[in-house]
Amino acid sequence: MSRIYNFSAGPAVLPEEVLARAGDEMLDWHGSGMSVMEMSHRGKEFIAIAEEAERDLRELLAIPAHYKVLFLQGGARLQFAQVPMNLLRGKAKADYVLTGEWSKLAIKEAQAYCEVRVAASSEDRGFTYAPAQEAWKLSADAGYVHYCSNETIGGVEFHWIPDTGAVPLVADASSHLLSRPLDVSRFGLIYAGAQKNIGPAGLTIVIVREDLIGRAQKGTPSVMDYKLQADAGSMLNTPATYSIYVAGLVFKWLKRLGGLTEMERRNLAKARLLYEALDASRFFRSPVEPRDRSRMNVPFTLAEPKLDDAFLKGAKERGMVQLKGHRTVGGMRASIYNAMPLEGVERLVEYLREFEARHA
Ligand SMILES: *Cc1c(COP(=O)(O)O)cnc(C)c1O
Repeated sequence: MSRIYNFSAGPAVLPEEVLARAGDEMLDWHGSGMSVMEMSHRGKEFIAIAEEAERDLRELLAIPAHYKVLFLQGGARLQFAQVPMNLLRGKAKADYVLTGEWSKLAIKEAQAYCEVRVAASSEDRGFTYAPAQEAWKLSADAGYVHYCSNETIGGVEFHWIPDTGAVPLVADASSHLLSRPLDVSRFGLIYAGAQKNIGPAGLTIVIVREDLIGRAQKGTPSVMDYKLQADAGSMLNTPATYSIYVAGLVFKWLKRLGGLTEMERRNLAKARLLYEALDASRFFRSPVEPRDRSRMNVPFTLAEPKLDDAFLKGAKERGMVQLKGHRTVGGMRASIYNAMPLEGVERLVEYLREFEARHA
């Protein structure tokens, strides 16, 4: 067996240990004689798996007791609609911060439900930075303030938590949740599609302050009503059972390696190594403001875009795949999520040097 280094933005690399464990348990989970895939979501085995996953996630993020943890479906993109449907609570407006492709889509979707005000934007410089708090024009009558805390495509990460006063703060944290410790109490709601940094596709995690739910707008489908899902333990309909199970194994892996403080240390080391190599190069370039660079998604360009294909081909020959940048921005992008080992980044950095020496 040989594993490649997969720099995909999502679905993305998972810890080898987790995949091996899922493999071992595939036919017979803990003597049940069943695969997790075959279990009733209402049976005692699966209930135990889901409860343990929630407990471990709560422990990892130190989620306060007055927050609900929901295991939903529909991806982060469904949250673009589900958030306004649930959190406007009779208000007509919401504030959004525009920092890239994902926040742009969130805004577009929300416009069907409310008046969206763009409180801050980084469009003036091609979405290459995070607008400072002083530049945010917030409105006191907004139902909530939404931002994307890590723009997966542009590679811009907020390394600080915005202060929105009494107005609940909502974060699309899809591509960096669990990459570092997070003060959940600063947020009204945090959501993340699992397939970036948490587990398989099909699962969306929502962490929401209890007092904000229960006032969904009329016409909200019941599976999209946070309160109804919270009351039903995220099992109003059949949840993504296997994805929850694998995410649970990822939570255990994180706990074993020392939790999110240790995870952050490792992620910082990987990101530093890669950015230092890009900054030292005269051939490769990171377009993002150094202060706001993502530790998870690292876009970069070649001095000569006509060499892009040769770069990707050489990477593949060296066991590294999915380095092509998003179609909307071009260039390259290396996603170096939790499960990407340091060795993968070392190999990439070595290849950057080799390629530059040959072509620059
Ligand atoms: C991938 C991604 C999404 C979309 O996720 P889906 O699960 O495909 O709906 C939304 N926001 C961010 C920040 C993402 O990285």
